[in-house]
Amino acid sequence: MSKPKVAIFDFACCEGCQLQIVNMEEDLLELISVVDPVEWREAMSDHRDGYDIAIVEGSITRHEDEERLQEIRSHAGMLIALGSCATTGGVNKLKNKFDLNDVKRCVYCDSAHLPHLNTALTKALDEVVKVDYKVHGCPINNKEFAYILRCILMGKKPFIPNYPVCVECKMKGNPCRYEYGEICLGPIIRAGCDAKCPSGGFWCYGCRGYVDNPNVNAAKEIMAQYHKTIDNLRGRMFLFGSKQEQTL
Ligand code: SF4
Ligand code: SF4
Ligand code: SF4
Repeated sequence: MSKPKVAIFDFACCEGCQLQIVNMEEDLLELISVVDPVEWREAMSDHRDGYDIAIVEGSITRHEDEERLQEIRSHAGMLIALGSCATTGGVNKLKNKFDLNDVKRCVYCDSAHLPHLNTALTKALDEVVKVDYKVHGCPINNKEFAYILRCILMGKKPFIPNYPVCVECKMKGNPCRYEYGEICLGPIIRAGCDAKCPSGGFWCYGCRGYVDNPNVNAAKEIMAQYHKTIDNLRGRMFLFGSKQEQTL
């Protein structure tokens, strides 16, 4: 049986999620033994046309990117969004909160008017094309990536948590960051990272995106219990927040 052809593409991002895949080292060799990588700019110098699975990192920040993504989708039997930039728009969506011309001037100064620096509102991949699977996180957890890809190759549906980070945090017995007067997004953010940040003594800032139906009211109750305001919560959601922030 021929191995499925896999191509990895990137759009606006830091490419840190692809780096996580490269960092798998020996596990990567095992993964590559069951797929046929045909394009991967970050790790391969040659490429071949035609692929079954497209793995796409980065968010869509220009109109021409939408066309390129649609072209990629049209050739792929399956598309996997890799990392927060791709799954939610990630940190790139910060610019949607400002006037785009101001953002361009801030970054490019006197060159902001140049046509190749054109920009548009940032979109996650699924705001442009159908996405079959999402690997969450900024950056991704490479073990979760390998698990999701293995499930797909075996024809199984991967389990991707749809409960909050607090569940994993409590299971690890971590002290809650609210007890330290901090604001943590754990109650509304998708688990699956093993509560990495609270386990390291830091609040969750929401890199895996929101659970499908975040209990915003419960989050508000926690805020009230710890004498915090909704503006405090919105402030913490600023980096990765884009949708639920509007519902507060
Ligand atoms: S999700 Fe984070 S680590 Fe991954 S490409 Fe985007 S900014 Fe980089
Ligand atoms: S530290 Fe954050 S993730 Fe952990 S229990 Fe408290 S709110 Fe939830
Ligand atoms: S705790 Fe929150 S910010 Fe940290 S890795 Fe998990 S989801 Fe991302």
